[in-house]
Amino acid sequence: MKLSGKDIVVQKYGGTSVRDADRIKNVASRILRAAESGKRVVAVVSAPGDTTDRLMEMASSITSEPPERELDVLLSTGEMQGMSLLAMAIHELGSRVVSLTGAQVGILTDSEHSRARIKKIDTRKILSALEEGNIVIVAGFQGVSADDNITTLGRGGSDLSAVALAAVLGAGVCEIYTDVDGVYTADPSVAEKAFRIERITYDEMLELASAGAGVMQSRSMEVAKKHSVRLSIRSSLADERKGGTIIMEDTKDLEQVVVRGVTLDEDQVKMSIEGIPDRPGIAAEIFGALAAESINVDMIIQSSAYKTGLNTISFTVSHGRLKRAREILDGLEREMGAERVVVDEDVHKVSIVGIGMRSHAGVAAKMFEVLAKNSINIEMISTSEIKISCVVPGKYGKDAVKALHREFCEE
Ligand code: ASP
Ligand code: MG
Repeated sequence: MKLSGKDIVVQKYGGTSVRDADRIKNVASRILRAAESGKRVVAVVSAPGDTTDRLMEMASSITSEPPERELDVLLSTGEMQGMSLLAMAIHELGSRVVSLTGAQVGILTDSEHSRARIKKIDTRKILSALEEGNIVIVAGFQGVSADDNITTLGRGGSDLSAVALAAVLGAGVCEIYTDVDGVYTADPSVAEKAFRIERITYDEMLELASAGAGVMQSRSMEVAKKHSVRLSIRSSLADERKGGTIIMEDTKDLEQVVVRGVTLDEDQVKMSIEGIPDRPGIAAEIFGALAAESINVDMIIQSSAYKTGLNTISFTVSHGRLKRAREILDGLEREMGAERVVVDEDVHKVSIVGIGMRSHAGVAAKMFEVLAKNSINIEMISTSEIKISCVVPGKYGKDAVKALHREFCEE
């Protein structure tokens, strides 16, 4: 019998869901229940607990610059631990099961180690294993390049593995299991009245994820949207039928709100290059040099050269890229005859996100007013059609989230 995509469910279990033997057994019995209900299950699994961080630390205790090819091999072993342990637990429950690495599946990527992009997925191996009556466990976060090197897909990349597999298999749904029961309007440990969002659009989820919500990897949302993969985010510890957040296209089913959620991104560093000449090509040169090193730049502002003829350009990067970005700016400072480079590591970014902003004027003004009332100085601003972000001094980040949540999401 030929399998139809609609019979297949792709489930993804994150590191906290498989962090020890008890949790792995719990996941195994959940997978079995799904299989017994008639679904063909493909389960993508992350590295147990903080395995990936520990492997990174181990590598950096040996060298400050591990060869990227070897680092990817090392990191990929975390997910292999998860997949084989989970397969054992399912086997123990008496079901047929097979685990596959990214390379064994045929998840073909480009050769950009530590941030590889998926180019093609071969579904034959998975489909034949399913047809033979197996539950299929796939190691997340990894693939293989055309020249047979193991690659990884960037931190949090198991989400991407799951979404991409759901897309190529034509799976009815992709279920993301984590340790929270869905996406919240804000971090409940910061804004006490934060509540679970029942339905959210791909666009909002993408903006929330890239603004620091930390529930799903943002790249995986782009792929989900592009291929209309129906996503549901749920807790692996709670009752299967309860809670969850569904991510979907913008439809009438969606509750109409202006702001869907508020996020805080603490992993921001503000860098400024001051006193640079005001002439065409300067910005292209600075950001071109950063892009050549794959340094993602977030917010950007340029001051006007009014009276002085000299500019300041500021932008933010993540802490992990600070060292390299600093070296590049120091080089440019000399080359361009800039006055100085300034780094402020103590800044946070607060964002409000909602597709309702498209049809509401004055949301930005309201946001600035709320921050002003709380005496929080805004250092940088950026906006998109459905998101407004402000960089504020680090010590005010949480206060800003609380106040914005109160204003936009409560009652
Ligand atoms: N284990 C990888 C990480 O920690 C991938 C993942 O969990 O999705 O980033
Ligand atoms: Mg993760």
